Amino acid sequence: MDVFAEGLAILRRFIAEQGVVDHRDVLAIEKEFRLPVGPFEVLGFIDRVDWIDDETVEVIDYKTNHQLFTRDEVDTSLQMSLYEVAVRRLWPWAKKVKLTFWMLRHGVRQETTRTEEQLADALAYVETLGRQTETATEYPARLNTNCSYCDHRKQCPAYADALKGKREFIVEDLADLEGVAREREEVARLAKALYARKEELEDILKAQLKERDELVLGGVRYRMFATTSLDYPLEPTLTLLADATGLSRDEVLGKLGAIDKKALDALLKSLGKKLDKPRVSLLKAELEAHADKRMSPRLWAKEVA
Ligand code: SF4
Repeated sequence: MDVFAEGLAILRRFIAEQGVVDHRDVLAIEKEFRLPVGPFEVLGFIDRVDWIDDETVEVIDYKTNHQLFTRDEVDTSLQMSLYEVAVRRLWPWAKKVKLTFWMLRHGVRQETTRTEEQLADALAYVETLGRQTETATEYPARLNTNCSYCDHRKQCPAYADALKGKREFIVEDLADLEGVAREREEVARLAKALYARKEELEDILKAQLKERDELVLGGVRYRMFATTSLDYPLEPTLTLLADATGLSRDEVLGKLGAIDKKALDALLKSLGKKLDKPRVSLLKAELEAHADKRMSPRLWAKEVA
């Protein structure tokens, strides 16, 4: 697909997903901010800031990345932390800030939030980085989580080494926690670079498979296949299952029914314009009390200055 057609397809998908926008909900687009951080100033532009309710705004950053971010990347993104600090200063009434990467190629919104402590850490990190940059005399390329989006990666020796799977450090004693952490970070950076490369190569094969049914290359057969996802409409599904099982429709609903979070969020947002704030907040709290929460432990890792 040429670049123009690809861009057009991304735009069409975005328009379909976005649906109708009430312009009163959009507080700003391409919003410039200048954030004082110690002796430095951070200049940035936020793609879009939306009003969600009387105490919440949503920062939206559009991304055209081929790869989705990992949960870690979303939750530790320095860009989003700085956006939140800026937004809190620009709209001081906003007690809550929702941070969303809108992944345009995937039609996925990757959402996160920050704590006060994380925001303070981000500012301290930027200040330290500024001071280190001022005093540094050499700037060696260092593999990092942003390499797969870097425009210079084709000329970068560190990235070329990563593609060859070149390793620098393998911990010998697994009881050596410093060593374990060091190797983990190296492997995480390499895995990310290699995964991005895999996607790049697969895009080339997929483009070829638009013209033919299959490719056989290097002893491997490649084909495209379609994955199917199904949404079952409520009424006919309940009727069919009630008839088949002998259960009442309410019993079937009790066993299978769940409310889609995205649809619920949209409904609450529209209610926010009609009802007063305390009623909406109370409703949200009541809904959360009934919600089934699933927690899964995840490893969180962030470089400290
Ligand atoms: S590809 Fe090279 S230049 Fe680009 S971010 Fe990675 S290490 Fe730095």
